[in-house]
Amino acid sequence: MKLYDAHCHLFGASRHKVVVNGTCPADWREVIEFAEKDPQVISAIGLHPWQVQDAPSDWQASFFKQIDSAQAVGEIGLDQWIEGYDIERQQAAFSWQLEQAAQRNLPVSIHCLKASDSLLRILKTQPCPKRGIHLHAYSGSAEQVSHFAQWDAYFSFHAGQLGDRAQKAPAALQAVPIDRLLIESDAPDTIPSSEAHATFLLRGYQRAAELRGLTVEALAEQVAANFKRYFLYD
Ligand SMILES: [Zn+2]
Repeated sequence: MKLYDAHCHLFGASRHKVVVNGTCPADWREVIEFAEKDPQVISAIGLHPWQVQDAPSDWQASFFKQIDSAQAVGEIGLDQWIEGYDIERQQAAFSWQLEQAAQRNLPVSIHCLKASDSLLRILKTQPCPKRGIHLHAYSGSAEQVSHFAQWDAYFSFHAGQLGDRAQKAPAALQAVPIDRLLIESDAPDTIPSSEAHATFLLRGYQRAAELRGLTVEALAEQVAANFKRYFLYD
């Protein structure tokens, strides 16, 4: 079964198709070169909200220099969960990068933790890529799914969010329109040391299939179609 990982970081070779996200100018070149060597890899470059405060002053110039060699924008976003966050600087960096993605109609991988209202405010005031946006490791409520869906949002989840005792992410996953559902690993940090990338990714598919009342094969076929529509075609 062919699986598609909608969001991860540099961790080594994968037998499945993966979107590898950079987080700051220091790793963008490596992500792009990794994708150039391995056809399984789609490269995304972006300034992560956790990196905003430490970013070099010329990060936007670096972004301009490299974006034409990348296939997507990410990981970008807003985070009011992390200690010492500076939401204004995060918003400025996020808006600017979202605009760059919109101008080029590139896929965009968005991290949003405890910042749904700020994100919705920004989405209301500026253009998004025509192909839509991707909310990775979606942590909003099931109710908010329909708000984000207005911006042609895709939603991805990983196995770590979907454990037996988890409630919020499983409920949100059940509320996502089936043609907007993606599965991710967010490797390497999310994966238990005892587990391989492929096993953890498959576990996400299995749990999503259970929650949607589908066979894992049927779910995988739908997720593959969603992934290709969002990441691979204009
Ligand atoms: Zn990530």
